Amino acid sequence: MCGIVGYIGRQDALPILIAGLHRLEYRGYDSSGVAVLARTGLKVHKAAGKVRQMEATLPRRLKGTVGIAHTRWATHGEPTDANAHPHLDCSGNIAVVHNGIIENAADLRAELEASGHVFHSETDTEVLAHLIEAIGGELDQAVRQALTAIQGTYGIAVLDARQPDRIVAARNGSPVVIGIGEKEMFVASDVAALVRHTAHVVYLDDREVAVVEAGGYRTVNLDDEPTSKAPATVQWGHEAYDRGEHEHYMLKEILEQPEACERTLKGRLDLQFNTAHLGGLNLTPRDLLDIKRVKILGCGSAYYSGIGGAHLIETLTRVPADAEAASEFRYRNPVIEKDCLYVAVSQSGETADTLAAVHEVQRKGG
Ligand code: GLU
Repeated sequence: MCGIVGYIGRQDALPILIAGLHRLEYRGYDSSGVAVLARTGLKVHKAAGKVRQMEATLPRRLKGTVGIAHTRWATHGEPTDANAHPHLDCSGNIAVVHNGIIENAADLRAELEASGHVFHSETDTEVLAHLIEAIGGELDQAVRQALTAIQGTYGIAVLDARQPDRIVAARNGSPVVIGIGEKEMFVASDVAALVRHTAHVVYLDDREVAVVEAGGYRTVNLDDEPTSKAPATVQWGHEAYDRGEHEHYMLKEILEQPEACERTLKGRLDLQFNTAHLGGLNLTPRDLLDIKRVKILGCGSAYYSGIGGAHLIETLTRVPADAEAASEFRYRNPVIEKDCLYVAVSQSGETADTLAAVHEVQRKGG
């Protein structure tokens, strides 16, 4: 899953969207695109490759104060211009950007095609645009109903040229955060894309839909019941999210390792009493002593650091510990042991496979 940026307010949306996409580049992606609500309707521009390649071919006039943008990491269909997001419905009024995977996309697509909808990409995402079009009416209601027909994970932002006063966003297993500004609002998959504009954010929960307008937002669950959210304040300044003078983000992260390790231990390691304080670990000393095994679950570099962590835990505690790729774990019908401590590690956001592995552990009583 990759990146989403959305803006609604009084400023020119395009530069904000493009800057936001650059902020999300550190996550990796294969293509990008933007949709802006111009006076003459929805204008979409997208291209395979780097954000700057998409930027280089942007039409000169793409003015509007509402827009959504995306960096894609292909799961359904090659990284091509046509498969890049945003995706449109048949009328060209509805634009969707999506992170995640729609598991029942093939069935939904067949139904929609049978009823006359014409698809322009191979993606699972495009199904959503047509489904919202088929339902029709108020955008928020149509999005909510469309999501009840979908199985899978999503973080989405949706625009409708006929309802230019709103962006509808929703999440299930793929993060979405709303940024609150002065008479302007932001939507993103990661605070990194909006810290330059605001420190006040609201994180959506799974199966939650938000209607975001320039002056505010409201949220409901998939059953259309209002939910209440408390805005949070992002603690870190935007410099922390900048690449600075480093050539690329990975180099920045490598060079930050000593400081990051120190920060991790600070306030937790109690040298005076030879102990450690692990806030948030809801286990009594008794529970801890009952642990017979530790399993760390993660994907990619989170999995690799899990291997390192398991090694350390086993060395220091003499409790057997290992790490496993969460993406394999969730599919192999694992035996869940009652006295095993499962630790999920996720880098920078939330990894769908790691969350699914946690749900698998919980479903089986772990
Ligand atoms: N499944 C969608 C696609 O292949 C979204 C991928 C993503 O999360 O970037 O287009």
